[in-house]
Amino acid sequence: MSMNSTGRPTAPVAANANEHQTVSGNKGLSQAEKLIFEIGNLENSGVDLPEPKKVKSRLGGMERKSDIGLPGLTEPQTMRHYVRLSQKNYAIDLGVYPLGSCTMKHNPRLNEKVARMPGFADVHPLQPQSTVQGAMELIHELSHWICTLTGMPAVAMSPKAGAHGEWCGMASIRAKLDADGMDHKRRVLVPESAHGTNPATAVQCGFHIDEIPANERGRVDMEALKAKLGDDVAGIMLTNPNTCGLFESDIIEIADLIHSVGGYFYCDGANFNALVGRVRPGDLGIDAMHLNLHKTFSTPHGGGGPGAGPTVLSDALKDHAPVPFVVKDGDRYRFVENKEGEGKASFGRMVAFHGQMGMFTRALTYMMSHGSDGLKQATEDAVLNANYIQASLSDVMTPAFGGVCMHEALFDDHFLEDTGVTTLDFAKAMIDEGYHPMTMYFPLVVHGAMLIEPTESESKQELDRFIAAMRGLAERAKAKDVEFFQAAPVYAPMRRLDETQAARKPVLRWTAPVEVPEAAE
Ligand SMILES: *Cc1c(COP(=O)(O)O)cnc(C)c1O
Repeated sequence: MSMNSTGRPTAPVAANANEHQTVSGNKGLSQAEKLIFEIGNLENSGVDLPEPKKVKSRLGGMERKSDIGLPGLTEPQTMRHYVRLSQKNYAIDLGVYPLGSCTMKHNPRLNEKVARMPGFADVHPLQPQSTVQGAMELIHELSHWICTLTGMPAVAMSPKAGAHGEWCGMASIRAKLDADGMDHKRRVLVPESAHGTNPATAVQCGFHIDEIPANERGRVDMEALKAKLGDDVAGIMLTNPNTCGLFESDIIEIADLIHSVGGYFYCDGANFNALVGRVRPGDLGIDAMHLNLHKTFSTPHGGGGPGAGPTVLSDALKDHAPVPFVVKDGDRYRFVENKEGEGKASFGRMVAFHGQMGMFTRALTYMMSHGSDGLKQATEDAVLNANYIQASLSDVMTPAFGGVCMHEALFDDHFLEDTGVTTLDFAKAMIDEGYHPMTMYFPLVVHGAMLIEPTESESKQELDRFIAAMRGLAERAKAKDVEFFQAAPVYAPMRRLDETQAARKPVLRWTAPVEVPEAAE
């Protein structure tokens, strides 16, 4: 059997005596599938067009001489290829997707229906503004909901992801400091439990970072924070609820301390789904905060998109917001596109056009179909579900911190001590049980971390099934069934990948196998 560098099986061979490998590589009704380049050829096509007339080339000898190398497939081949691939993926429509710090929540079908309406889906960003007033109204209306929910005076809509929103907020802070002649302020405080994007963003915006430790309650260590204050502090980047799934209970004092040295308070609001309708970040003294529309306001993300990271800004920062932005004059909407007039203090433009229209449409649909009472209920249910999981597993797994959690439950690996089973083994065994693993080894402040976020959209039945699977695994680990865990996953299309090899020597491009010419007679 082939093994990876940590001695775990990689090949799809039976680990368990009752299993056997099929001749075809197919399993049950699941078809093995090759890469599209391996199955397609240019002779096949989904359409049947007549040979084009011979025309004289106008490319001046620059035309391609060799094959273009694209795979050609018939329509049914194409359908089967992608459906087979889709069956190898785990999906939120299949079951609980417990990834913490990611909020993979149900995306209501209504969102999709509205996002596909031609007036939203088929407009072009360069169309005359008079012809897209409805789409502009949607952006304006969504901004209004966001400002109301956050209690903030302004929002920049163009950032296209959470990390992009962080960049927007930190660039606004940088522009404000520069406008005020505060160029000695370049140090940004970042708690060690911060999402990895936070320090990266601060550095990208020309700041340097200074880490603050967490205390034994998983919150910012206030004494350490006070010791770090100084005139060169530009601000703090803090996640709330933090990456341990906990509310930063000293947040108002943190805001006051940062403001007392002339710094700005950036809050990472990716986890706003634990607060919507209950807490307004504007009331906490926050100066800038991004929202992940693709987490808090539905549409599970992953694999690169789609995302949208609108960033709310305080009175102090709002004039520095990026262009373009929508302004309402009477009953008409217009874009401020340049650094002049209302946009004169803007730090500039971060995207070619106006932001992620498809996400805006889904987010506003989600907000309006829930209503303000429904949004608050979603928050409460998300927190309740996470606490239900924490409480139901706390006798067999070890919660990292005491007390109630917010929207995600964090466990450490104490319960695996002396069992020979690691967090990674445990996660791989979850795949065989039919679940995508939770977030592992993050946050780094907790040893062997397992971060589980159920979201509000899971029913009690689904949660109970998930909890039963987790309990079963925890008990099996305690019984030291090490072989079972080290062999997992047995039922996945791929077993343990050699992650070190994959990171060091990634194969990013398919190359045609070299044809070995047959030996001459
Ligand atoms: C997801 C997340 C981000 C980054 O958001 P992207 O849209 O993936 O760029 C930042 N901070 C926290 C706390 C997050 O959970």
